[in-house]
Amino acid sequence: MATQRVLDYLATARPEGPCLVVDLDVVRDNYRAFARALPETRIFYAVKANPSPEVLQALAELGSCFDTASVPEIEMALAAGATPDRISFGNTIKKERDIARARALGIDLYAVDCIEEVEKIARQAPGARVFCRVLADGEGAEWPLSRKFGCVPAMAINVLESARDLGLSPYGISFHVGSQQGNVEAWDRALADASMVFRTLAERGIQLGMVNMGGGFPTKYLKDVPRVDAYAQAIFGALRRHFGNQLPETIIEPGRGMVGDAGVIKAEVVLISRKSDEDNVRWVYLDIGKFGGLAETMDESIRYPIRTPRDGDAMAPCVLAGPTCDSADVLYERTPYPLPISLEIGDEVLIEATGAYTTTYASVAFNGFSPLQAIVI
Ligand SMILES: *Cc1c(COP(=O)(O)O)cnc(C)c1O
Repeated sequence: MATQRVLDYLATARPEGPCLVVDLDVVRDNYRAFARALPETRIFYAVKANPSPEVLQALAELGSCFDTASVPEIEMALAAGATPDRISFGNTIKKERDIARARALGIDLYAVDCIEEVEKIARQAPGARVFCRVLADGEGAEWPLSRKFGCVPAMAINVLESARDLGLSPYGISFHVGSQQGNVEAWDRALADASMVFRTLAERGIQLGMVNMGGGFPTKYLKDVPRVDAYAQAIFGALRRHFGNQLPETIIEPGRGMVGDAGVIKAEVVLISRKSDEDNVRWVYLDIGKFGGLAETMDESIRYPIRTPRDGDAMAPCVLAGPTCDSADVLYERTPYPLPISLEIGDEVLIEATGAYTTTYASVAFNGFSPLQAIVI
């Protein structure tokens, strides 16, 4: 839902072209909800979800830590006021010279998922703390991340043992249960795996300290999602089940759940047409599409709520598409999107819950269209 602050801003400022408006109050509320629900857990905001300087600064002021994937993201977190001890280099795929740069900036916490990456860190950041990412199946997630990152738990044991042998500090285990995870119990299996790695390594004289439980916390799009409290309760239950009364230090890395519902994209209907006189599905073309920031409509995975000035009128299904000359730039076709029959060319629409994974996914200038502009209020 667009907040009244956002609606008032759009009504008075009338910004030109498609743009994302982010309400910082909502970001702050989301941070506080995470902190309240999981008081013992440190929050590392996943910078990639929305790296606007104002968002990073507001979170830094509230005490957030930051999960980064590159040297520029590390620099953005530092510029926002975070000290290096509040920043992790969480990408498992890093150039060796970027590890050296991160080390020079003071970063001491690195993700790995194989021995080859451990060797790079041992060379460039001697003595640093590393955590090993294990695979999670991503079941129940609308944007699964399954195979690309992580290794099987048995391999994680060897990875962390070689980290110790190479002079690093084997610090913990991480996983990501898949983005937009609708199942509050999804953390259970991964925490069972993590506790097995903890126990096996303890028998070999390595005491891990931390479990990084990743992101996955959802934003409400069209369907309702469980509240943060429900996730916290399920996660805490799973921690108790698998770690007993020896709870490790824990971290979460919310991205989508921190900023998704804080943003609204204002867009405009450029064309409404049909492919034949008999065609009963209208094609509605907006001034934003897959290349303008709505990349998560890939495979129609994320279905955004769309508000029009004619909501309440009779609806009919539409194919929804972007303005560029690439035929892949169609948002919803397999499952057409219901929009008012009275919708007209020139109408402004609001694409809600677009605070995460939009500005950073916009192309530089495909067909000459500018990257998605972000306005933070
Ligand atoms: C993208 C990412 C996140 C954020 O995931 P969300 O599902 O948006 O919360 C967290 N951790 C890592 C390592 C990531 O790559």
